[in-house]
Amino acid sequence: MFEQFRWDFRSPEERGDAGENIIYSALNKVRGRKALLPNCYIPVGQKGSTEIDMVFLHESGLYVIESKNYSGWIFGNEEQDHWTQCLRGKFHTTQKHSFYNPLLQNETHICALMELLKDDTIPYYSYVVFGNNCELKNIQLTSGRHHVTYALYLRKDIEYHAQCTGIQLSDEKMDSLYATLVNFTEASSWQREAHIKEVQSKQYPIIQPDGTWACPHCGGQLVRRVAQRGSRTGQTFWGCSNYPRCHFTYQE
Ligand SMILES: [Zn+2]
Repeated sequence: MFEQFRWDFRSPEERGDAGENIIYSALNKVRGRKALLPNCYIPVGQKGSTEIDMVFLHESGLYVIESKNYSGWIFGNEEQDHWTQCLRGKFHTTQKHSFYNPLLQNETHICALMELLKDDTIPYYSYVVFGNNCELKNIQLTSGRHHVTYALYLRKDIEYHAQCTGIQLSDEKMDSLYATLVNFTEASSWQREAHIKEVQSKQYPIIQPDGTWACPHCGGQLVRRVAQRGSRTGQTFWGCSNYPRCHFTYQE
């Protein structure tokens, strides 16, 4: 099984370093009228907000981009709540981690934008972009509402897509969208604070760029533990390394 981890059709240069910088430079090269709005904090409900990695305003529409800088193998489909990341561990073991379905995450982003802009002439496109270091395995897209791609192919993918859709936004519309959205790129301190609180209330582990899991409450490392008592005695779970100061646990 581990031999297959080495199988990859991309050269080492192409695999390169994943990350948002690669995505920025890819988007900068996309032909056509465009503007890039990184880290948008879009209000949700009364006082919450959702953070969008990048909004790419292009003459063909609004591209809502969620970037995932993970390594290993990635499995998932549209319906699952969680996707799986498989990493090669020590001594020929495989570590499996789950993370919130990025398509569902991006749908939340798009709903927040729709609610904010209240303009149904704007076409929204959901793009989930993985770093060149992972392998997307059998990702099943059925609804046609989402694009999942590598950073390496993002520019080509968007240019092809834009060719098919043609120009959808007038210059005036693009200017007004930019003027609106730019207010949400530099999050005010209360937005950041509210966003951090929101993230902390989440019950899922945070996957770090190196593939290890961090506690969503305190940032501590998550470690495998075996329940010593209660109805789950003998079963494994993830606990925070800062226990007993932090009581976060996660059951796969
Ligand atoms: Zn913790």
